[in-house]
Amino acid sequence: MKLTACALTDVGLRRKNNEDCVFADSDNGLFIVADGMGGHAAGEVASQMAVETLRDFFPPRQSPPENTADCLQQAFHEANARILAAANSNPAQKGMGTTLSVLYITADKALLAHVGDSRIYRLRQTRLEQLSIDHSLVAEQLRQGLISTEDARNSQMRNILLQAVGLENTIDIFCLHLAPQPDDLFLLCSDGLTDMLDDHQISQLLDQECPLDQLAARLVDAAKTAGGRDNIGVVVVKIAD
Ligand code: CA
Repeated sequence: MKLTACALTDVGLRRKNNEDCVFADSDNGLFIVADGMGGHAAGEVASQMAVETLRDFFPPRQSPPENTADCLQQAFHEANARILAAANSNPAQKGMGTTLSVLYITADKALLAHVGDSRIYRLRQTRLEQLSIDHSLVAEQLRQGLISTEDARNSQMRNILLQAVGLENTIDIFCLHLAPQPDDLFLLCSDGLTDMLDDHQISQLLDQECPLDQLAARLVDAAKTAGGRDNIGVVVVKIAD
């Protein structure tokens, strides 16, 4: 399966540091967005450690592991353990953590693994679908029917996460098996994009015939035009015909 991709991150307009870490390797089929949290630049450390751990588990130019799903889960648990250990041994990094959203595409299959409130979307034809679920308090309240979509968008608590990588001993990884089709377009992104743009705006930006680097740049620019309150991280992946 032929893939093209582009990864782009931007500090945004309000923050001093960029705690988002993005990664795309089309040859290897590995795509990652991690959005770190923690004071004293620890968020940057956490998101970078998560990405590095995934790259360790899926090194370039090697055939995919036999049980990809297990390997992907192991990589998440290892990232969790590494970040937790670093946080426990360095007071400045105490409490650091990161979201972690990964898409791994091999031959005719794809796997999604995810913890936190970054997102993975798929645009198929003209239909945009969020494939990941948000591990946030507001999303949980929405799932239980306690609040409306409108309430969720405006909630003061919308950045409260129910889980992240590196905070606790255990994580509950959301996994999904996918069958990609030619012309599918995947988007992995941090909440710096989705807090600024709704799904309709995102789908309009994605549904354009242009090179992926331009597509990624347009997403980032739109989030900044809308306020750019947070770091913005995006990875776009296109399945060729
Ligand atoms: Ca963020």
